[in-house]
Amino acid sequence: MNKEICLMGNPILRTTAEKIDMSELNTPEFKALLEDMFDSMKASGGIGIAAPQIGISKQLALIELNGVNRYNEFIDLPLTAFINPVIEILDEATQGYWEGCLSVPGLRGFVERPRHIKVSFVNQHGEDQSLEAEGFLATVIQHELDHLFGNLYVDRINDPKLLMYQSEYDKYIIQKATMD
Ligand code: ZN
Repeated sequence: MNKEICLMGNPILRTTAEKIDMSELNTPEFKALLEDMFDSMKASGGIGIAAPQIGISKQLALIELNGVNRYNEFIDLPLTAFINPVIEILDEATQGYWEGCLSVPGLRGFVERPRHIKVSFVNQHGEDQSLEAEGFLATVIQHELDHLFGNLYVDRINDPKLLMYQSEYDKYIIQKATMD
């Protein structure tokens, strides 16, 4: 079911979410939570969503990037649930992307994050997983997992001048990017 998205200012977005007990994974409540997150992500046109964004303070995020072409990178990550994820930075060197967030609607901000990471997590089938990611995918994963620890992308903008309305981003940044 499509749920209302919690917006910046809602304290749940500033709270470290609770770890999920593995015994929860096969419960109807957990399956319903996954469905609600998926429906809410799709309804908002997002590529990722974290449980706190629909008001559930649990360490669970969903990401789906099916054959997406962003910044000249082809990224394919089938729908994946990240349960109790832990990030390891493999390369401290950063890379910057323009980020947006369902909880911060209408805005875009330029954020620099470590470009190469490894994330260990449990997936929706209860399997231990480890995924290495670079570039845009590394940024998407770090953005979504930030939500599980009370962080928003706006906290990570180094230059506040690089925060703008989507309309102006479309007007001034996209055009410039296509010319570069
Ligand atoms: Zn977000």
